[in-house]
Amino acid sequence: MDKTSMLYQDMEDELLITRDRIAERIRALGEQITKDYADGNLVCVSILKGSVFFFADLIREIDLPLTIDFIQASSYGDSTKSSGFVHIKKDLDRDIEGKDVLLIEDIVDSGRTLAYLKTMLKERGANSIRIATLLDKPEGRQVEMEADYVGFIIPNAFVVGYGLDYAERYRNIPEIGILRPRVYQG
Ligand code: 5GP
Repeated sequence: MDKTSMLYQDMEDELLITRDRIAERIRALGEQITKDYADGNLVCVSILKGSVFFFADLIREIDLPLTIDFIQASSYGDSTKSSGFVHIKKDLDRDIEGKDVLLIEDIVDSGRTLAYLKTMLKERGANSIRIATLLDKPEGRQVEMEADYVGFIIPNAFVVGYGLDYAERYRNIPEIGILRPRVYQG
């Protein structure tokens, strides 16, 4: 798929992050994580659904034995603003006691989802919990939350592509752009 695809028509013309930049940044993050967890017992957890492409690409750049798991939390519904409530739609399959958990997220905005998940997983006895996020919107923050690995810091706009959706669409666009407001303003 390229920019002539009809899927790109709802994104601003200027892409925010191209596929080449995404791949390059993920290689660097993978290298750093490989160094940091050399002696760890690593479990990589994808926060569904937005992180699936980032997760799949990132873990293949981590040169260590690891296991994977999935969790789904929701706070958004079909709107572009956080509802403020976090609800677990799908929990982990495996016990994480004594494990080094790397939570892999698409984007940190208000920080509520990750603050909630981090507290919940800490209570289950993980040895360590760190966060890797592809995107960070620091201007949206409403609770204290800092990711340990950040792909890109972006402005306070609503973005789609590379896993990120609006009303479940646009996830399959291979790069990241700002959604045209006309799409959600009707
Ligand atoms: P937080 O709890 O940090 O406010 O929200 C994190 C979640 O909100 C993300 O996992 C993502 O699902 C959604 N989100 C926040 N900002 C954006 C955005 O710009 N685009 C999309 N598609 N989702 C976003």
